[in-house]
Amino acid sequence: MPMPCTAEVAPTDDEVRALNALPGADFEVDTEPLGCDFGAHGSAAQHAVCPQMQYEPGGLALWWLFWDDEGRRELRIAPGCEKVVVSEVCLLVEDHPGACDQSIGFTREELAAELPRPGAAPG
Ligand SMILES: [Zn+2]
Ligand SMILES: [Zn+2]
Repeated sequence: MPMPCTAEVAPTDDEVRALNALPGADFEVDTEPLGCDFGAHGSAAQHAVCPQMQYEPGGLALWWLFWDDEGRRELRIAPGCEKVVVSEVCLLVEDHPGACDQSIGFTREELAAELPRPGAAPG
């Protein structure tokens, strides 16, 4: 089994306020530390965790907190990887390091109900 990345980040008060103030916000975010969603990866790739999902008229937006070991951090919406691995959709952010993962934070069923189905079978 691949080792998970053990890096953690605690959302700042400002980030918590911003994430909880989003219209359609799905979670009550707090300043509890969150673990990186990726498998073990090199320092070239930033860590990332999805602390908030936002329901919008067009669908579901995933907010990601990216950070690195030098203290840089960025909170923004980013598209998902959505690569299909053995019929399950990867829930990590686009261009993530390491292997795909279908089992982060929220449940697969919750996401599947909201995300457009990539590569829906033609006809
Ligand atoms: Zn990481
Ligand atoms: Zn993936």
